[in-house]
Amino acid sequence: MASSDTVEQARRAAVIAELEAVGIDGGVFHTMAAAGQLIDIVCETPKCYCPQGREFFPKPPIPDSDWDPTIDHYPILRSNGGHKDPWNVRLAHKLCNREDYSWRARITEMIKEGLSLEQMAEELNRTGVQRPQGSGPWSAESVRRAFVS
Ligand SMILES: [Zn+2]
Repeated sequence: MASSDTVEQARRAAVIAELEAVGIDGGVFHTMAAAGQLIDIVCETPKCYCPQGREFFPKPPIPDSDWDPTIDHYPILRSNGGHKDPWNVRLAHKLCNREDYSWRARITEMIKEGLSLEQMAEELNRTGVQRPQGSGPWSAESVRRAFVS
């Protein structure tokens, strides 16, 4: 029992060290790592755009890099009143977070406007918004699937 606790503590400390290596010196991710609620330092958005993969973050961090880590407010977007709580964050590359936010916020807005999934798909295709999963144009099904991902 004691040795598995030691292993777990070492694992949590390693995650914290990894957070610091990518420029995250405190905050909610440290809290989560210390509690054993963050296992890997990976981009957690449904679609990661980083050519070097979900696990890549510049070390040391590069100011203004698209691939630096950031807090993605999820599932409750910051624009909808979400906070940086352990139950409402995921780790993301800056660019992946921006892309995710852009279509998610647009779909949220259209739901509030009362549009159907079919109308949302038409609007997303018309404005050239990239689908986060799969390829081809948006459809009613892919709008719903993406939104609940
Ligand atoms: Zn990413």
